[in-house]
Amino acid sequence: MGKKLFIKTWGCQMNVYDSTRMADILAPLGYEPSETPEDADMVILNTCHIREKATDKVFSELGRLKKHKTEKEDNGGRMLMAVAGCVAQAEGDFIMERAPYVDMVFGPQTYHNLPEMVAKASGAFGTERVVNTDFPTESKFDHLPEETHKQGVSAFLSIQEGCDKFCTFCVVPYTRGSEFSRPADQIIEEARRLVKSGTREITMLGQNVNAWHGDGLDGKTWGLGRLAREMAEIDGLERIRYTTSHPRDMDDELIAAHRDVEKLMPFLHLPVQSGSDNVLKLMNRKHKADFYREIIDRLREARPDIALSSDFIVGFPGETEADHEATMKLVEDIDYAFCYSFKYSPRPGTPGAKMGGVVPENVKDRRLQELQSLLNSQQKAFNESCVGKTLPVLFDREGQKDGQLLGKSPYMQSVHVEANERLKGHIADVEITGAFANSLTGSIVTCEEITTQTSSKRVVA
Ligand code: SAM
Ligand code: SF4
Repeated sequence: MGKKLFIKTWGCQMNVYDSTRMADILAPLGYEPSETPEDADMVILNTCHIREKATDKVFSELGRLKKHKTEKEDNGGRMLMAVAGCVAQAEGDFIMERAPYVDMVFGPQTYHNLPEMVAKASGAFGTERVVNTDFPTESKFDHLPEETHKQGVSAFLSIQEGCDKFCTFCVVPYTRGSEFSRPADQIIEEARRLVKSGTREITMLGQNVNAWHGDGLDGKTWGLGRLAREMAEIDGLERIRYTTSHPRDMDDELIAAHRDVEKLMPFLHLPVQSGSDNVLKLMNRKHKADFYREIIDRLREARPDIALSSDFIVGFPGETEADHEATMKLVEDIDYAFCYSFKYSPRPGTPGAKMGGVVPENVKDRRLQELQSLLNSQQKAFNESCVGKTLPVLFDREGQKDGQLLGKSPYMQSVHVEANERLKGHIADVEITGAFANSLTGSIVTCEEITTQTSSKRVVA
């Protein structure tokens, strides 16, 4: 009988990808994914360390799970408990010390060693608690098995890991290590397998994805723009996206790809963090606000319908009222479709945590509120501007109501329609009839041809 594996994932899409790959690695050992931790034979917490209270959250989850582990052991069973991801990388020994019931702690770069770690922890060679937080010289990607678990219509594909930028607020360079790019052939092969398993949209992932510089198919070093062109040649792959990018790495080739590659979706998440040159300098972002504006102008020239999104941090040490106003001004100038915004939280071990000029909590709260109110109004206006337009929607899920399907517009908006469930996995033209804060509604106009074994016909909603 199969063993049950429960994985809880926090944080970014890269963690979601890593969790799927952990399940792939454990499949040959008989582990099958389970929706709940009760009665699981192995529980993995795949953690994120990007903002405050990350470690506290992990310990409170561990406390809850310990109950299930004890119950299982009282009934003569065994539950292996593991902490993975960036909190594991940063706090490995501390977790082992404070939670003696945890069997394995491993970072984002070592999970390909899971079979060996499981053998050690499960007592095959005498029970051992395992901490594996090295940065191995070999890439984990060279050791991952082919994908066992389907990701579905829309899939993630990690092409780049780590970061060498060292923004002063960020833990990523310390938890994920230095920049590494997978070779193009490995990426293309994985993309082809995903498409064969039913994927129509691939989001290429990296902590700093547009810094990707991998070995190309012609033996030369390629950049992301060249890779996007090659990905677009894959039959059956309809949509390509990439995230998360750094403004400094938005090169000419990549901007040109936005002009030429139709499958590259006209939506870009390009975080700027602040609109003030003073704060950008303190953050070590390596660019000024006007440089970002110029990149956006060039992107809009290349692809006039491109919609933009960003991340913002308010209340970084030293941020003045004038700096905050500069951020508000930049937001007004760019006019975003969707954004994330956060209050600065000092991360131990980063330069920002030791900086003077700490902004009081109540000031951070007020600035965040002001920024979010502007961003929300832009998001609302962007969604409303879609009403009356016909957009191609890729349907990837059933909706909550019977007869309802959910899909994504080219601009990443969720679109609800009444439609035949056979449209799942297909693209249809949808006339947008309603706009909400976080989604759109519409009705099907036409859709691509759906070929069944016996017939080839157009499916009407
Ligand atoms: N590589 C991306 C970039 O350069 O913009 C960012 C990746 S980071 C995983 C995601 C977002 O978390 C950042 O863009 C930033 O806005 C936010 N973030 C990171 N560290 C933070 C901190 N210490 N406090 C608040 N927000 C933070
Ligand atoms: Fe962190 Fe992104 Fe800066 Fe790298 S570029 S240090 S991932 S915020």
